[in-house]
Amino acid sequence: MALDLDTREQLIDTVRRFVAERLRPIEAKVAEDDAVPAEIIEEMKGLGLFGLSIPEDFGGLGLNMEEECLVGIELGRASPAFRSVFGTNVGIGSQGLVMFGTDAQKTKWLPGIASGEIVTSFALTEAEAGSDSAAVQTRAARDGDDYVLNGAKRYITNAGKASLFTVMARTDPEAKGGSGVSAFLVPRDLPGLGVSKPEKKMGQQGAHIHDVTFDNVRVPAWNRLGEEGEGFKVAMQVLDRGRLHIASVCVGVAERLLADCVAYASERKQFGQPIASFQLIQAMIADSKTEALAARALVLETARQRDAGAGVTLEAAAAKLFASEMVGRVADRAVQIFGGAGYVADYGIERLYRDVRIFRIYEGTSQIQQLVIARETLKRGG
Ligand SMILES: Cc1cc2nc3c(=O)[nH]c(=O)nc-3n(C[C@H](O)[C@H](O)[C@H](O)COP(=O)(O)OP(=O)(O)OC[C@H]3O[C@@H](n4cnc5c(N)ncnc54)[C@H](O)[C@@H]3O)c2cc1C
Repeated sequence: MALDLDTREQLIDTVRRFVAERLRPIEAKVAEDDAVPAEIIEEMKGLGLFGLSIPEDFGGLGLNMEEECLVGIELGRASPAFRSVFGTNVGIGSQGLVMFGTDAQKTKWLPGIASGEIVTSFALTEAEAGSDSAAVQTRAARDGDDYVLNGAKRYITNAGKASLFTVMARTDPEAKGGSGVSAFLVPRDLPGLGVSKPEKKMGQQGAHIHDVTFDNVRVPAWNRLGEEGEGFKVAMQVLDRGRLHIASVCVGVAERLLADCVAYASERKQFGQPIASFQLIQAMIADSKTEALAARALVLETARQRDAGAGVTLEAAAAKLFASEMVGRVADRAVQIFGGAGYVADYGIERLYRDVRIFRIYEGTSQIQQLVIARETLKRGG
């Protein structure tokens, strides 16, 4: 159910102020320390950010997709690393449980996820199963009332802090592709589950990814999410929603970069006048503005369609493709508009330029979004 308009405005205003007053001032330090301070994480919990998309019955804010995207846009105005702290709880780490969990599973875990007491991760990717995610080899073999998991996942966001993983593993080694894959809710403390040290990354310092290994991890059959063989369906539906969320964050980052560019170009003088008065600078600002507006409209319209019950696989892929490519171009123009200042660390533009690069890769690369869009368009006949 949608929030009433006053509550929605209040929520957005609260997030906007939190971003401006608490997150923006410490962005550079977070990047340098590669860590978000504990007190900021506590404030995020207090604001309900870990539970944005968790139904109210289970302690969350129960936002619909449009509301979640509006909040995502606000969050995009600070370093995307901050969003990552609770991003898995709001998206890929919780939505399988929300959409496919039994009441008992939801009651057990969702309140803790909504409050932030439980951090979640979504473990699909493997060394040989990236874009070809249906090729997962992590094995879940039934043994009495348990499944025994063996295998390794990689690049798993928040795995270092997670106490609950949604893991996609192969229950039927004979079945080809996605049909032999099932989803499991795997608590961190089960014996045999290992988490590697974090990877060094190009951007979004403060957000971490790890390998996760399973060495004869016994998971009760009760923890299976959905039916046996439904795991790939779970993963794809989770990603439909996740893609829209990511696209909304891309819009927020682009809008922030535009504001930074306008402020800088109005202040910086060359040839005796602000560089904003040069039409070649204005052209870059106009292109960025137009693309950001187009992405905002696509994201919010797709979110509204999803809230109305429509299937949005095509539109969510299009929103992710367009918004993530768009913010890359906007960040590139921002570096250009800032000139040398865009390239050195002090102004934070080069950091955002690096931060946004991942949006074109995770939750399906741009090429995978193109494949999805083409497949669905051909299916629909146009
Ligand atoms: C920071 C970060 C966070 C991540 N978080 C998570 C997470 O929480 N959980 C999780 O499960 N995974 C996560 N991932 C993994 C991420 O989803 C994958 O990296 C991504 O899906 C791409 O897979 P890959 O890296 O194996 O690249 P590959 O699949 O090897 O792709 C390499 C290139 O080939 C292209 N390509 C592949 N197949 C095709 C095709 N059929 N047609 C055309 N081009 C193709 C790709 O588009 C890409 O350009 C994360 C990754 C990173 C870097």
